[in-house]
Amino acid sequence: MHNKILGIHHITAIAGNAKRNYDFYTRVLGLRMIKKTVNFDDPETYHFYFGDEVGTPGTILTFFPWGDRVRQGRRGTQQVTEIGYSVPQGSLDFWQKRLEANNIIHNNVADKFGEQYLTFLDPDGLKLELTVPKKEDTRTPWETDEVKAEHATRGFHHISITTNKLDATARILTEVFGYRLLQQTVNRYRFITDAVEHAAIVDIVEAAGESVGLVAGGSVHHVAFRVKDEETLMHFRGKILALGLNITEKIDRNYFFSLYFREPGGVLFEIATENPGFTIDEPAAELGSGLKLPAQYEGSRERIERVLPQLS
Ligand code: ZN
Repeated sequence: MHNKILGIHHITAIAGNAKRNYDFYTRVLGLRMIKKTVNFDDPETYHFYFGDEVGTPGTILTFFPWGDRVRQGRRGTQQVTEIGYSVPQGSLDFWQKRLEANNIIHNNVADKFGEQYLTFLDPDGLKLELTVPKKEDTRTPWETDEVKAEHATRGFHHISITTNKLDATARILTEVFGYRLLQQTVNRYRFITDAVEHAAIVDIVEAAGESVGLVAGGSVHHVAFRVKDEETLMHFRGKILALGLNITEKIDRNYFFSLYFREPGGVLFEIATENPGFTIDEPAAELGSGLKLPAQYEGSRERIERVLPQLS
């Protein structure tokens, strides 16, 4: 699997109230908080990571909860506009009732590319979908008291990117990342990589007249694609540079190594490694239980803990 993009690594979005975000994803959606840390560029803001038991790439959704005064974002072009999770066959009834019971805005179950899905908005307006994939998703889910394995999310099914012009973004996916066009319906183009079984789909929605979205509360900040290791990361850095695009140096994010670049359609893309993973600073059984700070902020722990909002 060397020199390949292995589907989605994680997705990072912006939220408002930290406790509301934490409660929604851990209790209502039943994800595990696998890391509670701070924004490395702004340590007085949390950075939450939600995923499966150990934070397997392809299951990780992260948030910067900017607080109640966050500006409301707007879906539009140059953004990831939908995040799709896969769920088991027969679970959509459970989810529809659960979303209703929690006053979550949702649509009726619908069909896309022959798969049933349920669209809803998280408390900040972030658009999510639960999709029943044609082929059973065999990933082991995280279970909670309220969301058992027979219903639980398995990790990402797909993301959707909205753009004015399909070509530029599609070229990065196909010529650099190894995706291929799988299907098309109206203005939705479904791309897939055969390098992995899960979190392998990217939809591009071409909306010629749509205006540029606003990246703020309730919107996606960036999507990260997964590579095996740092050598592969640097291989892709070379490929992006060869296209004449700007890309950052390798950045140490404690739990993975990253590169960031803006793809020609305007979406912020990241490429992130599998190593070292989330158990580097706490054992698997305790993931997410303590506030983890990168070394440069340990000296300010007391002050940071005082200003961060309480979650319980
Ligand atoms: Zn990221």
